[in-house]
Amino acid sequence: MSIFTHDGHISRDALSLQILDDLPASWVIPVEKHLSFCYRCQADRMEISELIADLRRLAKQPPPRDRRASTVN
Ligand SMILES: [Zn+2]
Repeated sequence: MSIFTHDGHISRDALSLQILDDLPASWVIPVEKHLSFCYRCQADRMEISELIADLRRLAKQPPPRDRRASTVN
């Protein structure tokens, strides 16, 4: 796993870690520095952040109830 892609942008791995607040200490500054001026990575970060929010929402949803407790009586 590397912090930058071959074309000089932040890798999606590093962006995901940044969103999750889980970046290795030595990556924090370079990632934030790059994000402060690079609109492309800001957009990528937004996209990944929305994806992660979606996944969290899905994980929180209760399983569908297909069987009701109608046989109690
Ligand atoms: Zn970039």
